[in-house]
Amino acid sequence: MAIIAFIGLGNMGGPMAKNLLKAGHEVRGYDLSEQAVAEAVAAGARKAGTPTEAVKDADVIVTMLPAGKHVRGAYGGQGGLIAGARKGALLIDCSTIDVESARAVAKEAADKGLEMVDAPVSGGVGGAAAGTLTFMVGGPDAAFAKARPILEKMGKNIVHCGGAGNGQAAKICNNMILGVSMIAVSEAFMLAKRLGLDAQKLYDVSSTASGQCWSLTTYCPVPGPVPTSPANRDYQAGFTAAMMLKDLLLAQQAASAAGASTPMGAEAAQLYNIFVNAGRGAMDFSGIVKMLDGK
Ligand code: NAD
Repeated sequence: MAIIAFIGLGNMGGPMAKNLLKAGHEVRGYDLSEQAVAEAVAAGARKAGTPTEAVKDADVIVTMLPAGKHVRGAYGGQGGLIAGARKGALLIDCSTIDVESARAVAKEAADKGLEMVDAPVSGGVGGAAAGTLTFMVGGPDAAFAKARPILEKMGKNIVHCGGAGNGQAAKICNNMILGVSMIAVSEAFMLAKRLGLDAQKLYDVSSTASGQCWSLTTYCPVPGPVPTSPANRDYQAGFTAAMMLKDLLLAQQAASAAGASTPMGAEAAQLYNIFVNAGRGAMDFSGIVKMLDGK
């Protein structure tokens, strides 16, 4: 069993660390929030007073932090995770961050002779608790092979997407599809409503026709057709609109840096921006149907 330093024990990191503990690993937990650390300690983790203390004899270092600036700050510089890691330690960043930061941090680690993968997740807080996350992994083959058995304790679908940063690339491309398709499905239901077409009838047609997609059949944005979708619990998240906006903006940042044309992605980012700025950031992202309904 490995000694694992876990940095960032929030909504996602907390339950992920618990699954590593359940699998028998020794976890050293660090977070800026005392409460987050206390919860991990109650589940069996050992408290680390500083990031350096957490990583000093760790075999594996896992981070689950909010954004690129936190990841760059945590890994880099004196007192950072790269400086503090022991020789041979494996670094796994599970945060969703910009591709550029992921590649910069991976290079810094490689320059110090450390193996690293970016491994953002899909599956949300429920998937983190159940250990059923999907991991999209970027990094060298050897680092992926070492990371896989650790990731398998926190998720069930582990995909190697290529070199450093490609996990982040896969994550933002997927979520750009999701944001655009959720808006398309929502618009269709609102048009149907105004044309006098019953939501269930549209669902019965489109769920088995060419309009079929995940936003329709798993996460239907109107109440009724899919009883488990957030629309049936007043759009309680789930995956918040603020998180969707974050990922759409990361996709736009990457598209502009790479010279890719993503007009629908840009439009989706703008619509989610309006929705979040209207105070709906904590609502499930499928709640955007309410804005499209003029509410
Ligand atoms: P969160 O805000 O609940 O947790 C982040 C934790 O990081 C907090 O406890 C915070 O105190 C800690 N932190 C911040 N800077 C730190 C530092 N320098 N050192 C130590 N700890 C630090 O966020 P979350 O929901 O757990 O999300 C984490 C990441 O996972 C984000 O990148 C997010 O985009 C991604 N993600 C979240 C979800 C979701 O449904 N919540 C789904 C997929 C991916």
